This record gives sequence, C-alpha cells and structure tokens, in this order.
Amino acid sequence: MEKLNAGLYLHVPFCLRKCPYCDFYSIPVKVTKSLEKNYLNALKIELTLLKSFLEENFGIKRISFITFYAGGGTPSLLSPHFYENLFDFLAKFFKFSPEELTLEANPETLTLEKTKAFYKTGFNRISLGVQSFSQRGLKFLGRLHSVKDNLKALDYILKAGFKNFSLDFIFGWKGQGEKTLEKEILKASEFKSPHFSFYELTLEKGTPFYQTFKEKKHWIGDKKLIKFYYLIEKTLEAHGYKRYEISNYALPKFKCRHNLIYWKIKPYLGLGPSAVSRVENLRWENPKNLNHYLNALLKENRLPLKIVESLDNYELAKEYIFMGLRLKEGISLNLLKEKFNYTIPEVKADILIKKNLIEKRKGRIRLTFEGKLLHNQIVSFLWKSLCN
Ligand code: SF4
Repeated sequence: MEKLNAGLYLHVPFCLRKCPYCDFYSIPVKVTKSLEKNYLNALKIELTLLKSFLEENFGIKRISFITFYAGGGTPSLLSPHFYENLFDFLAKFFKFSPEELTLEANPETLTLEKTKAFYKTGFNRISLGVQSFSQRGLKFLGRLHSVKDNLKALDYILKAGFKNFSLDFIFGWKGQGEKTLEKEILKASEFKSPHFSFYELTLEKGTPFYQTFKEKKHWIGDKKLIKFYYLIEKTLEAHGYKRYEISNYALPKFKCRHNLIYWKIKPYLGLGPSAVSRVENLRWENPKNLNHYLNALLKENRLPLKIVESLDNYELAKEYIFMGLRLKEGISLNLLKEKFNYTIPEVKADILIKKNLIEKRKGRIRLTFEGKLLHNQIVSFLWKSLCN
C-alpha cells in the first residue's frame, strides 16, 4: 500500500480531577506551559517515527488524515495555541485537510474567547461532555461542572460559530428516574444539537464507583434501564434524530465521521499514551503511562508501542461482528464470507431471530431494539457459531 487514508486520534491524558466512574487513562494535573510544550514535542517525535514505521512495515509513502479527533482525558484543557502548532506540523509532513476535526470539551474549561480560538485553529466539531442536565446527576457523577456551566458552554459553542456539535450524556445514575431523564433530553434538544451520545453508567474495575457499588451489580435494575433506552430512542427519534449506533444519535448528515472509521474498521492512527492504532491487520497500543510514553519519545527516540497484534482471519471476523453490530446497518454476511472466509450457520441465526434479538434482511444481520440491549451476549454467541 503506497497511500494511507486514515483517521487521526489524539489522546490528551490530563484532567482537572478524576471522576469516580472513569477508567479512561488520564491523570489529575495542572496543565502548565512546560507540560504542554513537552507533550507537543513528544507528539511531533511520535508522528515522525510513525511515518518511518508505516513505510517500513507497510510500504506506505503518503499519509492523508481524513478526520482528526482529540479525546481524553480533557482535550479542552490544552490551549488553542497547542493545537495550532500541532496542526501546522501535521500540514507540513502529511496531507492534513480533514473534513471533520473534533474536540472533546468539558463545560468548566471553556470560555467564549477560548471556544472562538479553538474554532479558529480549525476545529469544526465539539463533543461537549455535559453528562447530565440535572444538578443531582452531576453531583452523583462527581463532576466539577454545574448545569449552569453546561448552558454557558453551549452558548459559547453557538457564539463561536460551531454548526456541528454533540452533547454527551451519562444515564443510569443512582436516583435518576424516567421523568428526570425525559426532562434532561428535552432541555438538551432545545439547543438543536445535531448529535447526541448517551452512555449507560457502568461499573468499571479499578474505579472508586466499582469499589463502592460492586456488591450490587447495577443499582438501577435492568427493567428500568430498558425503559431508559426506550425513552431516549423514542424522544430523540421524535425530534428527527436517528440512532445510527448503539449509543449515538444524529440528525441527517451529522454522524461522527471519525467514530465511523472505528466501527467500520477502517485505518486509524492514535497518538499519546493509551492510544490505539490500526492499519491493515496490525493493531498496536501505546502504554497507559505518561512517563513511559514521554521517556520513550523524548529520551530514547523510539516509539512507545506496548502491544502489537497481528490479527488473523478469525480475529478479523470477530472484530467485524463486534463493531458492525453496533451500527444500525449491521453486518453483511457476504462480506463476512468473502473477506474473512467465515459464515454464521442459519440454524444459529434463527435462534436469535426467534427471540427477536436480530433481524435478517437482504443478506445482512442487524440488532433489534431488544438485541441492542444484549449486544455483548449476542456477539459472543455469534463468535462461537462461526464456521469456515
Ligand atoms: S473528565 Fe472525563 S476523562 Fe477526565 S476523569 Fe472525568 S470522565 Fe474521565
């Protein structure tokens, strides 16, 4: 492969404080100018080394980034100047004219001036972590911002000129009822956000929430959760949004293009600690440790790759099923056969069809509403059923 078209992900591993449910890699830290500078230098070295790595391993001579996504952590803690500098570097050494540049932002870190400056650097999409429009919800989730901060941040985003943005929520916190959730959704839809993400609060190992709540597997109960999923889907679809992925809803033309690269298993490169990259059948991951990451690049001038996996056809087929079933369009049985040489026997698919968990149409399988609630279980059933 001479030319690579890929999505570029930047992990920003800094937060003001660690939220009690979060298992993303990030450290609570005050971002100083010198930390920003060090991080930027490391990223530039990583990009330069990655270029040689891709040429040596895949024969890639030209790299074009078609999307850019700064996630975290809290990417909005870094200054617009940091991104300006990074984008200049990218434009100098790569083809860098992404159609979508997303910045994940936390409401308490934005000011009008900063939001305008982010827009000026080239970001054309903001993914705003409002998490909840209930003060009780924000308190339970241990967030630093208030509902007022959510409203202010939304005002800045609109005033800065962003036409494309997403409001990201967590639902299923203790004490949240259907009425509260409905109010939150209706409040949020007043801002005509073109995109919403709704993530169920889950207990992740190693987090303070896991420690506190591990006895009860979940504190809100499956019945209530099903009602919540139904309420979110029903309310947003009534406002013109389509549930194009298990947790994501968009108005027409506003799906997140960068995330679609992951779900459709197209190539992407990840920068920063804990970031994952995927090119052809090779997947690698950076260490979840900022010091190890910085030392490898700044002191030893080497890529900090931690895990490098070469995926065989079985692994690729499994990945296709896992990712594809997150999407509304589901998976193509032809593609599964032609690309990976695997099939799902009809008798196995019929078991799921009879239980109303999947539907099969025009050679594709996709999850029903009930199936989406059991994505992981269905995926592992199909993995075990694979034949070649
Ligand atoms: S701000 Fe986001 S990334 Fe940081 S600890 Fe909280 S949930 Fe995790």
